[in-house]
Amino acid sequence: MRRAPIRTCIGCGRKSQKWDLIRIGYTKDGRLLISLDAKGEGRGAYVCPNPKCIQAAMNPKKLNRFLRAQLGQDRIDSLKAQLLGLLGKSRGGIDNGEIQREKGKSTYDEGVRAG
Ligand SMILES: [Zn+2]
Repeated sequence: MRRAPIRTCIGCGRKSQKWDLIRIGYTKDGRLLISLDAKGEGRGAYVCPNPKCIQAAMNPKKLNRFLRAQLGQDRIDSLKAQLLGLLGKSRGGIDNGEIQREKGKSTYDEGVRAG
């Protein structure tokens, strides 16, 4: 068995194999990216695929600290909506602790530059 990289959920603080978590990336040019396969650009923060953890993780102070970003409340709200929407879409899978992954593809690219 290969050793799994472990990451901490910023919502509940529990450690999980990183491919069991949703990755939130923040790129140098200020884009937010969500990926389900633990790959992505920029600084990453990880969160469990459940609404409770997403709610807890979308705390501006916490998220900005992890991403070394200065995201405003409106961008965080839109990120949260995207994350929750993602859970809704793959419902069923999520309940079994499994997310349907699109390999090598970010499921969300805000496409807006900060600043
Ligand atoms: Zn969690």
